[in-house]
Amino acid sequence: MSGGASDLTGKHLVAGDELSPTGALFGGINALTGEHLGPDYGEADAATIGRACSAAGELAPMFAASEPAMRAKLLRAIADGILDLEDTLVERVMTETALPRARVEAERGRTVNQLRLFAGLVEEGSWVDAHIDHSVPDRAPVPKPDLRRMLVGLGPVVVFGASNFPLAYSVAGGDTASALAAGCPVIVKAHPAHPGTSELIGRVIKNALAAAGLPAGLFALVHGRTHDVGSELVKHPAVKAVGFTGSHQGGRALFDLAAARPEPIPVFAEMGSMNPVVVLPRALAERGEAIGEQLVGSAVLASGQFCTSPGLVLWIDGAGSEALLAKLRTGLTAAPSGPTVHPTIRTGYERTLTELEGLPLEAHVSTAPTESPTAVCPRLLTTDATALQDNPRLRTEIYGPAVVAVRCRDAAELLASVKSLTGHLTATVQGDLQDLRDHADVVAVLRDRVGRLIQNGVPTGVEVCSAMVHGGPYPAATDVRFSAVGPTAIQRWARPVCWQDWAAELLPAELREDNPRGIRRTIDGELVSG
Ligand code: NAP
Repeated sequence: MSGGASDLTGKHLVAGDELSPTGALFGGINALTGEHLGPDYGEADAATIGRACSAAGELAPMFAASEPAMRAKLLRAIADGILDLEDTLVERVMTETALPRARVEAERGRTVNQLRLFAGLVEEGSWVDAHIDHSVPDRAPVPKPDLRRMLVGLGPVVVFGASNFPLAYSVAGGDTASALAAGCPVIVKAHPAHPGTSELIGRVIKNALAAAGLPAGLFALVHGRTHDVGSELVKHPAVKAVGFTGSHQGGRALFDLAAARPEPIPVFAEMGSMNPVVVLPRALAERGEAIGEQLVGSAVLASGQFCTSPGLVLWIDGAGSEALLAKLRTGLTAAPSGPTVHPTIRTGYERTLTELEGLPLEAHVSTAPTESPTAVCPRLLTTDATALQDNPRLRTEIYGPAVVAVRCRDAAELLASVKSLTGHLTATVQGDLQDLRDHADVVAVLRDRVGRLIQNGVPTGVEVCSAMVHGGPYPAATDVRFSAVGPTAIQRWARPVCWQDWAAELLPAELREDNPRGIRRTIDGELVSG
């Protein structure tokens, strides 16, 4: 085991150095009791941020051209280092977030698997999407030049993780793993809800760089609890892209900042979602109660702290309606209160519910006690199609275990309701083949509004594989063309570069005639395996 929670220092990790916190200090919080957890962390100042970004900028060209085997070694060393932390890591995560052991261990497994997945991807090498179009010197009326294209790393990436996934969407989460795989240095802004967890993982990355023989400046971990640290990172001229997982407000603010820079840069922000669930008539009649039970289980999972939590359910009034509604009501109001990862999540949940109070809906509230400073109570909010269409707030994420249930009078109301939705990560359709055929118009509208369509399941649970799409139209994400989960996530951190009539011996290995890396390439329009 390398390092323990007692070795935590509260320092920023920048270009191999450990910089002591200065200015206003803050610590972690025991998410069950609200107790302060040492050590203290501080806001990264301008000099610290400048140093982290400049070091990353200087090393970026070297890292983009580095041997894929070196990057694979780094990613595997990070995965091994995370496992080597054993219970030190699991216990710190549990204390800082109140997430149960089984969930933390599963998230650790996912994080490690993601790192190994990207190690395998860069080692295999075909992700660079190499194209070779040979010259045609005797083409008339003008000769065709020799053109060769592949993807190369964009440069330093700033990563912001979310509070609810302290491992899989944090310091060594999917954004960091895919950016390092692409050959991009990474600067992480630690989430203030789990600073100790962040430091433990940050130290693993620092050690893994040294073990792989790579310069320490390829990674930095800086802390901060005000938005200033994140804003300064995004504005730094050496930074070339941003990966963000979190709230709509945060993602949008950073997207606007990045667009306003003298040199605008891409921001891949994965934000909140309501994950609408449409229950079609035949499924409702046959399985109304069972569907209600399935939805309650998904909605209260981890106190509703999943970006894929089902926050909106719609159906057409008819056979099965009462059974579905009764199950949603009893299930949600009987469910115990549960802790969230930080007191600010509880405050945010309660503030949102207060904002909804004047709207045309009926609230069914659990009476479970909420002694813990982070605990929230599940709740069902019933309303109708007109209210949903007239009030955008009812169509926006309520982050926590709340479900908005919408009873539509007929198919036209259901269609108008789904048309009123903006972008979400997922949509679930409960229905058999006939249902889906009868309501093809509803399904078509949903397809245009989400990144993933689910039939007869629940949206929680995101598989890490190449067919996965974790993203969606705005406001679920700021770039609908990419997935933040799975191997294709690497494409966010790379850009195509074309070499024309270039000296063969100076071409990147991936574009050389003899294909020394043995990768899959498109040659003169034909896909050729390695
Ligand atoms: P958050 O409050 O937006 O925080 C995310 C990070 O962004 C933190 O480091 C935060 O640090 C920073 N930040 C937020 N606003 C900022 C601003 N205006 N300027 C600069 N930095 C800013 O999100 P959260 O509460 O941790 O996470 C919950 C949200 O994440 C939910 O909406 C959930 O649905 C979403 N989520 C989405 C996904 C997905 O894949 N789509 C996955 C998990 C969670 P500071 O506060 O210190 O600035």
